[in-house]
Amino acid sequence: MSKRDDAREVLRRVFGFGEFRPLQEEIIDSFGGGRDAVAILPTGGGKSLCYQLPAVQQEGLTLVISPLIALMKDQVDQLRAAGVEATFLNSSLEATEVRERTAGLEAGRYRLLYLAPERLFLDGFADWLKRLSLRAIAIDEAHCISEWGHDFRPEYRQLGELRSLFPGLPVLALTATATERVRRDIVDQLRLEDPPVYVASFNRPNLHYRVLPKGRVGRQVVDLVRARPGAAGIVYCQSRKGAEKLAGDLRAAGISARPYHAGLSPEERAANQEAFLRDDAPVICATIAFGMGINKPDVRFVFHADLPKNLESYYQETGRAGRDGLPAECILLFAPGDAAKIERFLREIEDEEARRIAREQLRRMVDFAESVECRRADLLRHFGETYPEDNCGGCDNCESGGEEVDATREAQMLMSCVHRIHRARCPMGLSHAVAVLRGSRKERIRSLGHDQLPTYGLGEGQPEAYWRSLGKQLLQKGYLLQSDDGYSTVRLSERGRSVLRERTSIRVRPIRVADSAAEAGRERRPSAAGSIPCDEAFFERLRAWRKELAEERGVPPYIILGDAGLRHLARCYPQSAAELLRIPGMGEKKVHEYGEALLGLVRDWLREHERQEFAPLEESEGRGGSTSPASPGRSPGGCPPSALASLKMLREGRSVAAIARERGLQTTTIETHLAQCVESGELTDPDGFVSPGELERVGEALREHGSYPLRPLFDALEGQIGFGRLRLAVAFLERGKRAAGS
Ligand code: ADP
Ligand code: ZN
Repeated sequence: MSKRDDAREVLRRVFGFGEFRPLQEEIIDSFGGGRDAVAILPTGGGKSLCYQLPAVQQEGLTLVISPLIALMKDQVDQLRAAGVEATFLNSSLEATEVRERTAGLEAGRYRLLYLAPERLFLDGFADWLKRLSLRAIAIDEAHCISEWGHDFRPEYRQLGELRSLFPGLPVLALTATATERVRRDIVDQLRLEDPPVYVASFNRPNLHYRVLPKGRVGRQVVDLVRARPGAAGIVYCQSRKGAEKLAGDLRAAGISARPYHAGLSPEERAANQEAFLRDDAPVICATIAFGMGINKPDVRFVFHADLPKNLESYYQETGRAGRDGLPAECILLFAPGDAAKIERFLREIEDEEARRIAREQLRRMVDFAESVECRRADLLRHFGETYPEDNCGGCDNCESGGEEVDATREAQMLMSCVHRIHRARCPMGLSHAVAVLRGSRKERIRSLGHDQLPTYGLGEGQPEAYWRSLGKQLLQKGYLLQSDDGYSTVRLSERGRSVLRERTSIRVRPIRVADSAAEAGRERRPSAAGSIPCDEAFFERLRAWRKELAEERGVPPYIILGDAGLRHLARCYPQSAAELLRIPGMGEKKVHEYGEALLGLVRDWLREHERQEFAPLEESEGRGGSTSPASPGRSPGGCPPSALASLKMLREGRSVAAIARERGLQTTTIETHLAQCVESGELTDPDGFVSPGELERVGEALREHGSYPLRPLFDALEGQIGFGRLRLAVAFLERGKRAAGS
């Protein structure tokens, strides 16, 4: 067996994955083969596997340097769940535990040892390590070594000494972010020897990007979260107060949300993070203090309630969504005023150069938010990557075509309203103009006599958020001007005046208003890559099972099995250990441990529910082409007991309808049972089930459309033959064909 095959075998058997993610195989080849290497993979790119797999494959101990205690524990839990002996040593452990683990290490019990960098240089520790049979060193979050990176940690600096401490051991440096400068720093500081540098694309195809105009942020966030029931997500806020307030708003709306920020005590922070990881609190409202060290793979959304300082932070923070490769959403709520707020902070920066850089970064961030072009392309360009497609199909701008639309009439209305207010010699802000336009009955409007203006009430037809967004675009385009005296009063610019006079047409970006519950309900949910259609009800059942088991074991649910695994279970309904092994994330250890339970769940489920059918996945992760269930006609497995029960009743003389009634199932389910009996050879004679005429029609359509999925076949027959019956007919035909062929 070649080493490559061997790696694939370990990938399948231990980690339960069928395919490598981009560059994993190459990195494993280098590092596993004893060479230094640098791996730059985006978050969710699967960096850990690059050193975990070689550690399993080969004898000896792999040392993993990791900056965060929480992460170490999580990884060790995950490895143990997959049956890999791993451990960590850090300051959180009791003395007896440390003694136990060091004894285990000396006895060669572990494949991986996780350490914080500072521990390495404690007195005598390195000497002790030298006595163990180390075979390789992996350095996670390697950018921490560089002062040029965004997360410099002085304790990483010393890691350069590893080379002299352990000459000859291959070192793998891993990070999710690295500019050219940081990359060079990593190689130099760690004294890596001519390492290949593997850089994966930073595109995250399963993330969907969107920017919404920011309205009343509390309500907006509540609506957005409500529209995604049960999904885990992070809402980033700029301030501690903001995080507290949003968490409060969500709780008031019945959503269990927790805050996370540096103002909480360490205990509170830990408890809130834990609740989030364990799916007890699906939503966490956090400042940027939250994130590093969050390994939760099933974060389904990241919202930004405030503008991030720069695109790097935005990319990092949104990157925490969808590590499991399933679709996830990134929504930025944007109000131009946010930029002004950050700008005020930036003024405090003393160093001129630093201030200039921060301003420039902020400008890039605002450009991103206001851009009408592909957001993915924009993000990737920022990291020096060219996105090759014209339309990514996964961002708001690509979906709306990014074209500006005509808004001449509305713009004229708003501009003349602003103009008249200004001419009435009482300059006011944009909100006032919008209120006048919408015919508000506010006392202030009446007392100023603005309800007498000709534009009063003209704009009732559109919601407030629409006008505000339009007003902001007119400001950006320079038709309106805003004072910077702190009152933000608005007036027409010279340009605006001439446009109004000459009735020039005005085009703006399509205005999406998502400021009301109704809007959120109607919200068009994006389509992102990576989705795995499945039996949603069964998925929920499996999730409940997983949660219960996780609680029993005191680990986060994703340690038991990821969502991708659960979704595959809920579309394949595996009926044997061999089929279970094909589920992503189910290695041998997990099949051994939960196989029985899962097969029982599938059995029970199919006894009560109809088996749903799914088209094969286009690009499946994990299991390559074999992720989709074997097509019904080709399923080699035996006949499920429930199907045999139906067959027995049929042989006793009952009709399909009668069996359905008696068993409390749908007739299509009984027909599906019969199809299963045909497939397994229990039932061979179509007589009495499908007429020869039906068989002929189905046979004809089958030649053109194939048997899987069933839908095109069903449509080709104009829906005249129900799904259950159709499937039965297909089963007879395919069985006949097989019999003839053999
Ligand atoms: P990173 O550290 O690069 O952010 P992780 O190592 O945490 O990424 O991996 C992210 C997720 O992807 C984990 O849930 C992991 O189990 C999963 N994963 C890693 N490699 C593969 C693979 N080859 N196929 C399917 N899933 C994978
Ligand atoms: Zn796009």
